Amino acid sequence: MDTLSEQIRNAVKQASIRARGESIVERPSKSLTRPSAAWTSPSRIGSIQGTALSIVLSSIGCAHARSSEGGCTMCSYLLDGTDKNPTEEEFLLQFQSAMSKLDKHTAPLSVKIYTSGSFLDSDEIPASTRNQMLESISNDDRIKEVVLESRPEYVTDSVLTEVRRILGDRRVELGIGLESSSDIVRSVCINKNFNFRSFADSVNTAKRYGIGTRAYVLLKPPFLTERSALLDAQNTINDALALGVSTISLNPVNVQRSTLVEDLWEKGKFRPPWLWSVVEVLRHAHRIAEGTINIVCDPVAAGKSRGAHNCGKCDAPILDAIRRFSLDQDVRSLESLACDCRLLWLHVLEHEDISLQTHT
Ligand code: SF4
Ligand SMILES: [Zn+2]
Repeated sequence: MDTLSEQIRNAVKQASIRARGESIVERPSKSLTRPSAAWTSPSRIGSIQGTALSIVLSSIGCAHARSSEGGCTMCSYLLDGTDKNPTEEEFLLQFQSAMSKLDKHTAPLSVKIYTSGSFLDSDEIPASTRNQMLESISNDDRIKEVVLESRPEYVTDSVLTEVRRILGDRRVELGIGLESSSDIVRSVCINKNFNFRSFADSVNTAKRYGIGTRAYVLLKPPFLTERSALLDAQNTINDALALGVSTISLNPVNVQRSTLVEDLWEKGKFRPPWLWSVVEVLRHAHRIAEGTINIVCDPVAAGKSRGAHNCGKCDAPILDAIRRFSLDQDVRSLESLACDCRLLWLHVLEHEDISLQTHT
């Protein structure tokens, strides 16, 4: 990265740290024995539909966000965490409490384990605790798929050897926030603090254990126009597919509190993406993936000013179509959508870049 990019990256990092401010030390104390969240929802599991349990364990949170690097520009997950790390016993109580939500569900089930950081970071979730949770999953024959979320630096041979040994021949995916395949966008707009090479290395390491990768692709990080963001997400999907990821999860930016994105949004300098852009990127992904992998999207705060939205009239049916597509992978859900505001979105795509060059 050249010196100018480095200077801009540094300014973004400092602004991210300022936006986070005192929010971390002021975060309300949380129960150490209850997960931050746990919910079940319909989900695509391989080539069929089933039920997924999503668990967000309460931990001290993401090492990147806790470090002097300041964390990502759009993420406040750290605020869901605890100020001291739970003990092994407390973590296991959190896990069991979440797993009880599966009591009345039948196969096929998927379990997705998130933390406010990385499940594979042994400083956040000790290896023996992690392995006990995986053992508990492996004893449940209804569970056909396990998704574990992590940054690339924690994806190592020794961790994956254990994961594969414990989970047997289940479908396993690592959810990794690639966000963008452009090192400039990921670094300058997101402050992600890893490069594309690290992501590619993780995908290849995982493949050696028959483990797939769920690439999280961010739609509309700050500082990009709607059109640039749309093209960046499409390029990222092309690059992730070429690497051989097993799922694409498209994540439109939502405005989370105490983040640089929230600062910009409050000043009128950031608008979350249009739902039309979400639809366009999903259609592109479906076209180039040709049914070889799943393309999923569950936009947070969709239809609200803090989430991906259109005009207000068409948000609900479009969100419904996105959710249906994520479940059945039938792109026809996304092809017959219409609203007058589509013309305005097309106008934004065509003129926003030029308007910014002229007026700022
Ligand atoms: S997006 Fe992931 S890596 Fe970035 S601060 Fe949030 S939890 Fe950490
Ligand atoms: Zn509309």
